Amino acid sequence: MPDSAQLESRTTELLQRLIRFNTVNPPGNEQAAQEFLRDTLAAAGFECELLSAVEGRPNLVARLRGAGDGPVLCLCGHVDTVLADPGDWSLDPWSGELKDGFVWGRGALDMKSQVAAEVVAAVSLAESGWRPAGELLVVVTADEESGAEHGAQWLCREHPDKVRCDYMVNEGAGEIVHFNGRRIYGVCVAEKGVFRFTLTTEGRAGHASIPRIGDNALTKLAPLLQAMRDRQPSLELSPEPESLLTALGLDPSDPEAALREAAETDPRVAIIVEPLLGVTLTPTMARASDKINVIPAQASVKVDCRVPPGLGRDHALAKIREVLGEDGWSIEFSEEVVGNRSPIETPLMDAIRRWAESVDPDAQVAATGLPGFTDSRWWREAFPECIAYGFFPQRHMDLFEAAPLVHGADERVPVADLGFAAEAYVHICRDILS
Ligand SMILES: [Zn+2]
Repeated sequence: MPDSAQLESRTTELLQRLIRFNTVNPPGNEQAAQEFLRDTLAAAGFECELLSAVEGRPNLVARLRGAGDGPVLCLCGHVDTVLADPGDWSLDPWSGELKDGFVWGRGALDMKSQVAAEVVAAVSLAESGWRPAGELLVVVTADEESGAEHGAQWLCREHPDKVRCDYMVNEGAGEIVHFNGRRIYGVCVAEKGVFRFTLTTEGRAGHASIPRIGDNALTKLAPLLQAMRDRQPSLELSPEPESLLTALGLDPSDPEAALREAAETDPRVAIIVEPLLGVTLTPTMARASDKINVIPAQASVKVDCRVPPGLGRDHALAKIREVLGEDGWSIEFSEEVVGNRSPIETPLMDAIRRWAESVDPDAQVAATGLPGFTDSRWWREAFPECIAYGFFPQRHMDLFEAAPLVHGADERVPVADLGFAAEAYVHICRDILS
């Protein structure tokens, strides 16, 4: 078993190195970071390949073969990040500086930290002479932050035989949640779908100096916007919020009451749980007349609509009508991606529970979902048998400390959590692949 202190120091050093590669996407520029990771894994005995959809933006596939025909476990992550405005930060976002017990920089949470912990766990196991009963894969993708067109989506479509796996550990959850004396580690087993649409109202143009000479399409948007401000579509229960509410000690059979109770105890918990309980509608961009003195004949607002896993356009439409009524508007979908999920009760969940019991016996492990989406979605779609979970355990920084830093200023991760996560991955690899 690799030594804890060593796992922590190696993960810290690797994360610092990774942050210093600027992989802001666009353009991504992942080549140098991926070559560095390839060399690290190859030196420990992994067979490594860099696979590129476009020049300079490779995906890394590293494989450690074992003797038997056991399962294939994939530790997955993406090495690109979103942008950072140095003016908003108290340190250089690409310094990878170690200060006050944290590693600072863009990607410190999303998700160079997890990539570092996964690679260090894999390398340490291989160096110790351990070999998997099946295969251990480490896949580091490019282009996750801009839709994965050159990353996971391309990899699963063009090289399915190289990335097929039975189990996958990726990003999505794992930071501890404290609630009512309970301690809970979330495991993300599902991602919601994206059904973005443009909502349009019609009227008749006219001179703006005579308000009633035309029929103003813009003011017709007002009640629709108000409706989306007043309420979200009715709540609906699915397996992930059911698991999470139960772990929180709330009654999942009455989601409305459960949300109210959560809000009374800790409003932050209600804000996080609510989007897991159904379709959400968030208006984000509006337009109407191109001229200030012309009454608009047409007005529109773009709405970012997220739909629970497995549900499609008809379900979204029914929920939209529930909020907006039947008439006075039309909509057109611009994106239609159905979300997907993995089952909750699996050998991978059992392995995560056994790890949690061994390091934090008072804590619980609960399934949860993600309102957004990750590369896991592409794996579940390409390989329906693949059980893909998001799990990067953190206990020194909780969910509510971490969440605002993801894609935000002063992104940082506690060093203690880096060692904690690397040890978890060692544990899970040995459990699933021994
Ligand atoms: Zn990410």
